[in-house]
This record gives sequence, structure tokens and C-alpha cells, in this order.
Amino acid sequence: ATPTSIMAGSGRAAELGILFKGGEHLEQTHHINTVVVDKTGTVTNGQPVLTDVVVADGMNVRMLLSFIGSAEKQSEHPLAESIIRGIEQQGIKLREVRDFEALPGYGVKATVNQRAILVGTRKLMEKYHIKIPNALIIMEKLEAEGKTAMIVSIDGKYAGIIAVADTIKDTSRQAIERLHAMGIEVIMMTGDNERTAKAIAQQVGIQRVIPELLPEGKAEEVKKLQALGRKVAMVGDGINDAPALAVANIGMAIGTGTDIAMEAADITLIRGDLNSIADAIIMSQKTMANIK
Ligand code: ADP
Ligand code: MG
Repeated sequence: ATPTSIMAGSGRAAELGILFKGGEHLEQTHHINTVVVDKTGTVTNGQPVLTDVVVADGMNVRMLLSFIGSAEKQSEHPLAESIIRGIEQQGIKLREVRDFEALPGYGVKATVNQRAILVGTRKLMEKYHIKIPNALIIMEKLEAEGKTAMIVSIDGKYAGIIAVADTIKDTSRQAIERLHAMGIEVIMMTGDNERTAKAIAQQVGIQRVIPELLPEGKAEEVKKLQALGRKVAMVGDGINDAPALAVANIGMAIGTGTDIAMEAADITLIRGDLNSIADAIIMSQKTMANIK
């Protein structure tokens, strides 16, 4: 494309809240035939609400919540924010925390009141050899409802389960229909479990889900698609999406997401509305048509 048509195209895109980092990205985007979307904060609003608390025998609910809230306090994950909000709304005070560690894709680890706390996925519990009793059945039920359920352990012992429910963006379903109508396959990749992921995917018309991925796993899956000849756009908002955003043919970061995602991406979608994906592709098609 000529510098003039690129300038004009970039300008029109910017008016729609689609910021291309460079002209070459505007030239490449029309090749996209596969769109990979992250779940939390991309398809969903990313502001989940604490809905369920299940305590192990002999555990006190308020004490458990106080430990969880304290452990999550330093996490920047959207899940942490909603968990803390839910806990503070119940007037529960948080405690002193040491040795906080965020384990991307797994959860968090911290010492609260001299006790070792873990909050996160089944994989996190496996990693630390925590035995989970029949509670997994409760977890599966929560996940089938589309909720994200997390296991909690205190001093190496199962202590309970908490779950949060996220809402789907009003525009996600239509935006995905538009991509399908353009002949583009849409795939959801998430660090969350398969049951939750499928429940959300089904509501927005996504057929294919690749769940339980660690950040590097998302990037690996994008590479596999590319090896099959796919031209892949990755759309995400989180730190956990950064490696995949960087390897994709085109990385699209949600403007309401983390700075790290925006740095790794080629395009920032200011509006967070997934309709911007189709708009970006159309903008690129028009720009390329202008120069022929
Ligand atoms: P997504 O791809 O949906 O944005 P992530 O890769 O960020 O998900 O996280 C994957 C899973 O790891 C979450 O569904 C959750 O179970 C767990 N997890 C991540 N961060 C936290 C946290 N701060 N507290 C508890 N669990 C967490
Ligand atoms: Mg996300």
C-alpha cells in the first residue's frame, strides 16, 4: 500500500478506536483467517462477582475468607479483585501477608498469619501435592454453571472452594457471528478449566475451545495453528496472553487490559468490543483494495 493510503486507513481505524502500531500491521491484517480469543476480560467483562463459598469440615467461613482475601491482596489478576471485593463487602478484615507469589495460570501463594495459603486451580493443588476430597464434585457443578471455581488450601490441607461468576459482554455474541459470516474460524483459549470455558463459549457461539493453558501454552497453540498454514489473530487482555499476542500474525490487545498485553500486541482495541476485530480486518481489506 502507498504511504498515503496507509495514513488514511490508520486514521479511519483510529476513529473507531482501533490503534495500529505500524502501517505494516494494517497491511497484514486482511490475511487473517483464524481468530483466537481469550476468555476472561476478552469475551467476558472480566469483572466477576464472588458467588459461592464452600468450606471444609471444621473450617469457619469468615476465617477462610479472611485468609483468601489476604492472600489475593497483592495479585493484579481480575479474579483477585473480585474475590477481595466480595470478601470486604461482608465486613471481613484482611490480615498481614508475607511471601506473596503470583503463579500465572495457576493462582496465588502467600503466608498469612504464619500459615501457608494457596488459592487456584486443580493443577496448583497437584503441584503442591494437596489432596482434595469429594469436593471436586461441587467444583464440577459450579463450573458447569460457567463459574470459575478455585480451591483453597491452608498449611498443605484442603480448606474450601470459592467460585466467581463473570458476565459476557453484550456485544460478544454478535461480534463472533460477524467473524463467522466472514468465513473466519473463532477459537477460545483460556487458562480456565474446560467445563467453565465450554459453558461460556456456547453462549457466544464459539465451537472450539482449548482450555487449561498456561501462558506459554497459549503461544504454543497459536504456533500449531500457524504450522497448519493459518493466519492467526490473537485477542487478549492479560499478562497471560502476552506470549501468544507476540507470536500471532496479528496480536490485538483489549484497551481495558494490562499494559503488558498492549506492549506485546500490534493493535490495541480501545473499545473492548469484539466487533473491533471484524472492523480491523475490514479496514485492512479496504486499505489494500485502494492501492490496487
Ligand atoms: P484466563 O485465560 O481465563 O484469563 P488465567 O490464565 O489468567 O485465565 O488463569 C487461569 C486460572 O488460574 C483461573 O481460571 C484461576 O482458576 C487461576 N487463577 C489465576 N489467577 C488467580 C488468582 N489471583 N487467584 C486464584 N486463582 C487464580
Ligand atoms: Mg484475560
